[in-house]
Amino acid sequence: MYHYVRDLEHSRYPRIKGLDIASFRKQIEFLKQNFTVITMEELNCACNNRYELPKQAVLLTFDDGYLDHYTSVFPILKAENLQGSFFISGKTLKEHVLLDVNKIHYILATTQMDVLLPSVLKRMDYYRGSEYEYPDNDTLFNEYASGNRFDSKETIFVKRMLQTVLPVKVRSMICDDLFKKYVGISEDKLAGELYLTSDQIRLMKQEGMYIGLHGYNHYWLGRLSEVEMQKDIRQALEVMSEYIDHKNWVMNYPYGSYNESLLQYISSTGCKLGLTTQVKVADLSECSSLTIPRLDTNDFPPVSEKYKCRLDKERT
Ligand SMILES: [Zn+2]
Repeated sequence: MYHYVRDLEHSRYPRIKGLDIASFRKQIEFLKQNFTVITMEELNCACNNRYELPKQAVLLTFDDGYLDHYTSVFPILKAENLQGSFFISGKTLKEHVLLDVNKIHYILATTQMDVLLPSVLKRMDYYRGSEYEYPDNDTLFNEYASGNRFDSKETIFVKRMLQTVLPVKVRSMICDDLFKKYVGISEDKLAGELYLTSDQIRLMKQEGMYIGLHGYNHYWLGRLSEVEMQKDIRQALEVMSEYIDHKNWVMNYPYGSYNESLLQYISSTGCKLGLTTQVKVADLSECSSLTIPRLDTNDFPPVSEKYKCRLDKERT
């Protein structure tokens, strides 16, 4: 699983959490030497028992439809004759606006936590009570502030509040406000330099890359009502219509969030494979083809050797 892949040092926001191009090159070299890079079509056939995957198979997936994937990733994969699978959130293509998920990344990349956390808490207090109801700050902090292997508990708290926990209008007002205050570039300008365009996606597909769905609004789909969830998928299918096979498409759940009714709904609309963010080696004999786990780019050299213990854990 990859997200931003760019020349970090010379980019506008070097602190954004991403993979440097030089490291990406090294990682592809490493994967080629130690694994067999497969295509989405091969994975699809393997899930239907029509094809046996090579040993040590690895599939390269790129989330969120960033321009990085066209400028940094695509030329390298093309030169190496490898396929990448790219998952686009419909809204970025249709409306050319910045997704909240990206506003949050850029806010985090430009603001120290000792400034950001009080800022978020103050705004949560400001909006609470009048039109919008949600629990008090201490209750929410106790429930949601738990760190993971990439982020401190404060960072996770800020992310969860702004990604999904607060009412959609409140979180979007807070994101806009913080973005204006700390990031120092207009949303339009950043949206214009951040995402893939339809021409680029078309060319990547023509050249053998695989294109899949990543929702429309990049919401936590597993936390939406049935009606909102179905609407998000329908909008995504409509925008991505040109790039997918409606009888056989692949879903990549934003934030890895899904539930049973989402799985049923996407199955009924032609989805055949689904990618989660569960960190695990995928064993097709035991996982459902709609909930395939993934390892992260940070699990592999030159970033780390964590993939080894993930493989070992699988064996024991
Ligand atoms: Zn995403």
